[in-house]
Formats: sequence, C-alpha cells, structure tokens
Amino acid sequence: MRVGNLSNRLTLFAGHGAIDVEEMSGGRFGADPQAVYDRWDEFTEWVVSSRHTADAVPYSVEDLGAPAPRPRQVFAIGANYRAHAAEGDFPVPENPMVFTKWSSSFTGPVGQIVLPGATVDWEAELVVVIGKRARTIPAGRGWAYVAGLTAGQDVTERTVQLRDGNPQFSPSKSFPGFSPSGPWLVTLDEFVDPADLGISCSVNGREMQKARTSELLFSVPVLVEELSRLVTLEPGDVIFTGTPAGVGFNRKPPLYLAAGDILVTEIEGIGQMRHRFVSA
Ligand code: ZN
Repeated sequence: MRVGNLSNRLTLFAGHGAIDVEEMSGGRFGADPQAVYDRWDEFTEWVVSSRHTADAVPYSVEDLGAPAPRPRQVFAIGANYRAHAAEGDFPVPENPMVFTKWSSSFTGPVGQIVLPGATVDWEAELVVVIGKRARTIPAGRGWAYVAGLTAGQDVTERTVQLRDGNPQFSPSKSFPGFSPSGPWLVTLDEFVDPADLGISCSVNGREMQKARTSELLFSVPVLVEELSRLVTLEPGDVIFTGTPAGVGFNRKPPLYLAAGDILVTEIEGIGQMRHRFVSA
C-alpha cells in the first residue's frame, strides 16, 4: 500500500491515481494524515478488505505533503553509514547518535526550500514512520512496529551545525523546509526486502550520493530497539535513519546548495522527491 498526504488529506495512491480515504471509507477514517497512525492496524485491515482501485483519480505531485506531517516525536540518527562517518572524520559510533528535527521544518516531497545561509548541504535518508506504541522492543520484533518507509532529506546548514565548537545538530537541521519527506509511505509488504533499498540523490542531475540501506550501521529494527529502550515510541513518530557518504561539506573543495539548484532524492521501491532551492 502507498498512503500519504494530498492537500492535507489522507490519501491512498493506486496506479497513477489518488483515492480520498475519508470519502471512500464513508467517514470511518478521517481526513487527517497524521491521525491514521493511531489506528494503523484497523486502517490497514480496512484497506486490504476494501476494493477501491477503480475510484483512483488523477492528482498533481505539487499537492503532496509529508506522509506523517505532525509526529509527536522526530528522531534523527547521525553517522549511521560507515563511509559517511569516515568522510566526516567521525568515529564509528558504538550506540546510535540521536538528535531531533523539529517538526516545523517538515515539508512535502516537491517544492521550494529557502536557503537561510551559504553552507546548506543535502543528506538523503530513509525515513521510518512508527505504526504502534513501542517500549523496550527487541530488534527481532522491530519491523512489526513500523507502519512503513518513505524518502527524506536531512537538509543541514553546516555553519550553524559546527559554529562555536559545540555541534548544534537540531537547530542546523530544522530551518523551515529542511525536513522534506515523501512522496508517500510504502508499507513493508510492498518490498522484496525492506532492509536493502537503493538510496541516492543528485544536484542539477549530478549524482551526489548512492548507497544501499543494507549498509546502515544500526538497521531499522535495531533503531526501534535502541530508541524504544530510551523513550516510548508513539504511533506516527518519524525516524530519519541517517545519510550515506557523498554530502557536500566533506568534498574538496566543499560544495553547497545555491539558489536555483534542483535536488532530487530517490529510494528504490518508494519513489522520488524534487526540491528547488531559492534565496531568502
Ligand atoms: Zn542526517
């Protein structure tokens, strides 16, 4: 199933069309794309048991929003690919390095992002949405707490991140528009192997990052274990799982996003996001 956010309404995507969930369900499920995660099992059972593909209607990708637009909690993981830790001269962490991206930075999979500075960088990431409350869950059961997967970018202002010698991960990664996700949430049954997906991004058609999610140092189920040992994960919570090698600030010379640049982010089996950067 592909489910997401079209003009702030919960929507199923089938073929090249969209199906409004509130309309199709006769009001059983509301229009709020975030609220559905609190009834995730009931919702997925309804989708499986209903016949709805004939009613899919055309839509515009500009109207897509974040699949989980207002999570209670957002987690992001640093240095979660060995090659990215190496390029940034970070030690390979023994435990997940966790920070947050405040949800005011969320945006959809297509559109413009304002550059707040001259050192804005890309970070293509696999994004997880939680489908069930999770507390002290072993990794062996971790996938059962995942509603689905989507693509994301952990856009970062590097000067803010590194100024004063004290890393400021969350502020540097939470400017408006700095946390796009989409184009929709894909449930795990849609993947041959949800733990091994190609992930890539390009700037103006030049490939910058290319990896597989099987290279994650802390896999999705291990992140569910580690995070649920620290906090209670709530339905609809979002996890940005970390970025592979190939970000701009480790290049020689460093390369940053400029006004007019087009950033395309893609994950195999999920789809593509496309953002244009503009000056403030
Ligand atoms: Zn990141």
